Amino acid sequence: MSTKSSVRQSAVAALTAASAASHGQPIGSAKPRSLRELFGLNVFSDDVMRARLPEGTYKALQKTLKKGAPLDPTVADVVATAMKEWAMEKGATHYTHWFQPLTGLTAEKHDSFLVPDEGGGALTEFSGKELVRGEPDASSFPSGGIRATFEARGYTAWDPTSPAFVLEAPGGTTLCIPTAFCSWTGEALDKKTPLLRSMEALSKQALRILKLFGSSAQKVFTTAGPEQEYFLIDKNFYYARPDLLNAGRTLFGAKPPKGQELEDHYFGAIPDRVLAFMLESETELYKLGVPVKTRHNEVAPAQYELAPIFENANVATDHNMLVMETMKRVADRHGLQLLLHEKPFAGVNGSGKHVNWSMADDQGNNLLKPGDTPHENAQFLIFLAAVISAVAKHGDLLRVAIAHAGNDHRLGANEAPPAIISIFLGDMLQDIVEQIEAGGAKSTKAGGTMTVGVTALPTLPRDAGDRNRTSPFAFTGNKFEFRAVGSSQSIAGPNVVLNTIVCEAVDEIATVLETAVAAGKDLNTEIQALLPKLIKASKHVIFNGDGYSDEWHAEAAKRGLPNKRNTIDSLPDLITPKSIALFGKYGVLSERELHSRYEILLESYKKTINIESQLTAQIARRQILPAALRYQAELATSIGALKSAGVMIPPSQAELLAELVSTITDLQSKTAVLIKASDEHSDGDSLAHATYSRDIVIPAMNAVRVIGDKLEGLVPDDLWPLPTYQEMLFIK
Ligand code: ADP
Ligand code: MG
Repeated sequence: MSTKSSVRQSAVAALTAASAASHGQPIGSAKPRSLRELFGLNVFSDDVMRARLPEGTYKALQKTLKKGAPLDPTVADVVATAMKEWAMEKGATHYTHWFQPLTGLTAEKHDSFLVPDEGGGALTEFSGKELVRGEPDASSFPSGGIRATFEARGYTAWDPTSPAFVLEAPGGTTLCIPTAFCSWTGEALDKKTPLLRSMEALSKQALRILKLFGSSAQKVFTTAGPEQEYFLIDKNFYYARPDLLNAGRTLFGAKPPKGQELEDHYFGAIPDRVLAFMLESETELYKLGVPVKTRHNEVAPAQYELAPIFENANVATDHNMLVMETMKRVADRHGLQLLLHEKPFAGVNGSGKHVNWSMADDQGNNLLKPGDTPHENAQFLIFLAAVISAVAKHGDLLRVAIAHAGNDHRLGANEAPPAIISIFLGDMLQDIVEQIEAGGAKSTKAGGTMTVGVTALPTLPRDAGDRNRTSPFAFTGNKFEFRAVGSSQSIAGPNVVLNTIVCEAVDEIATVLETAVAAGKDLNTEIQALLPKLIKASKHVIFNGDGYSDEWHAEAAKRGLPNKRNTIDSLPDLITPKSIALFGKYGVLSERELHSRYEILLESYKKTINIESQLTAQIARRQILPAALRYQAELATSIGALKSAGVMIPPSQAELLAELVSTITDLQSKTAVLIKASDEHSDGDSLAHATYSRDIVIPAMNAVRVIGDKLEGLVPDDLWPLPTYQEMLFIK
């Protein structure tokens, strides 16, 4: 037997031999505890602070948190000491400023609490200064031209609005302090800074509306609940697939005879081994205060979902990063590999992240919840109209927020929302919106009579929206669900865009209403006049039908809705005058920051395609071609033997050999084309480079794959070097 197939065969053997029980130890203390004991165990939470900080310090910190008052350095010192003591009781020896650079991952640099004393012993120290600001060597993080390496110093700044936590690893524990990451000149180099800025901006505008309605709220924040989809496969398969290992997705692989046709996986029973992984992940996440709520099988084989309860969008963003990282680490302990890529397996459903989004005031009121009284409903309709207007005007920016190479495989395929951004409202709300547009109406589809018109609005149904999974942006009763976000993405970007575009719409509405009220006009009359105008101007973005259908593509084009089919088509929308004006006006991202992000996104696209193309060529030449040649030799030998024995060679065997020979020739020629395409560079700027990757390199890569997958159907199983789709997806 060929030694070359040994990697794959030993992978299968190792898997069969292993049982879930024999896989690693739990990350932290293994003692089973009750949920109540576990939840937030490793979080420097409000309760912990209240218990451990002197009252004056606690109050001063609260003032910073609630009102954004500057933090007194002496307060920071007291907080730092309390944090250190607390973390050390949990076994921490080190601390780190935990931040989210533009790589889309999290970053950390650990420093120990240790300070040697004069007698050769050790003291521990952690000052307010160290808590509040850090200076990681930032030269290797992407900055998109903002920071030349000679001025490499970036700094991290404590974000007290997301709680510090202790991260356990088998060897020890570390105090993690959520921070923002900026350049020396104050420009954002991370995902958190613009998120915080956008939340602040939206808060300011939304409060103007609330004030008109007589609210005493002091702050509005956005809420987010990201539903995380992922694949889980055996680690041995993962190691035997250079493409998964290096690109996160398979670059070869014929479709298995059984895919997801039977639809028997969705909500099916969770296999024990996977369940063990889920339970342990959840335990670790509970300790970190992540409110994990739901787990289930997804549509594709080996695909699952985890959903938390929604939180303040800043905390939810940090928590989603922790969800992804924790699941990865726990999977490892169970001999499993977590795949967060949007499309790990061609022909099988990809993974997304539904970002549920709303706004809430500091009194706990959800601003997108239809109310019980006409008064509340008027306010609800104002915020709803603001979101609709915002998406109608800036759908292009929502599209940019989800644009990256991985998501290109998903959007527009008939499994995920199309790349056309539209809003789904549901029949009930649609009806109401239409009646408002018509100037107030009298009845609803749900039956019963009512008078629409702000003075006497009906009680709107709580969960009017039926489930339309084909819409990228759907109203689901009391929140919007942004479904086009990719599974591997940080939710910060989509939140920044949503917050900022809605901020603008709310600002404009507030100005109209305030002006009218200041002129002595009646608020309700003004609202009645304004709502139909807003709806009329933006109703083209509302679509309640099947987003997968061809008719919708035609209809959307007629309505003038942009259809940016891929990342490269979409990214330039980030730096249009419209975008620069919007983000600049609300202080969320400066023109320079937008350009830097644009460059980083293009660069990352180009690098992704480059890695994939090199891997494709490597696998074709070093794994598939040799296997095919070996089979060719076997076949030729076998036919030769017939010939020497004087047996007539059956035409089918001669044809098989001929087909193999010509497919091998195809593989070689297509691989040569790919290698040439990858080596060549187009002239021009980064957009030209990335466009070249899209138009020349990707098709060349796909052509090699087609031949590789054809060979998978020809070459005998025992010679085939790559774990197959069937094995990866169905052996658990
Ligand atoms: P599904 O969409 O799968 O039916 P649910 O309706 O249960 O799921 O909710 C999905 C997510 O929406 C959950 O994470 C939930 O916490 C979140 N969610 C609920 N209300 C809000 C809100 N006001 N703001 C943000 N997210 C919310
Ligand atoms: Mg959902």
